[in-house]
Amino acid sequence: MHEYSIVEALISRVAEEARARGAAGVSRLYVKIGALSGVEPELLASAYETFRERTVCAGAELRIERVAERWACSGCGRTVERAGALLCPECGRPARLVEGDEIVLERIEMEVP
Ligand SMILES: [Zn+2]
Repeated sequence: MHEYSIVEALISRVAEEARARGAAGVSRLYVKIGALSGVEPELLASAYETFRERTVCAGAELRIERVAERWACSGCGRTVERAGALLCPECGRPARLVEGDEIVLERIEMEVP
């Protein structure tokens, strides 16, 4: 499953960071999941529960923040609502995705001795 490989990558990223900083443990992770990222936050959370045992994240809580999709005009930068055609009502140019497709490890709270 998609979410499992994301969790594996996430935990190894965290392990690297913890090693680099000489952390004794990790207490909390903050992850941002875009609405268009193709990741289900619930599935990610349950995959995390399965994988975190015996890793550096064993005692770490996972906080997931959902990020809504947001579009803006590629010409003038005006916000474009996701309704019908994704075209700017001002200048008619196509909209581009500003955020909403990301999977970001935003912050790690570590116990550094
Ligand atoms: Zn425009």
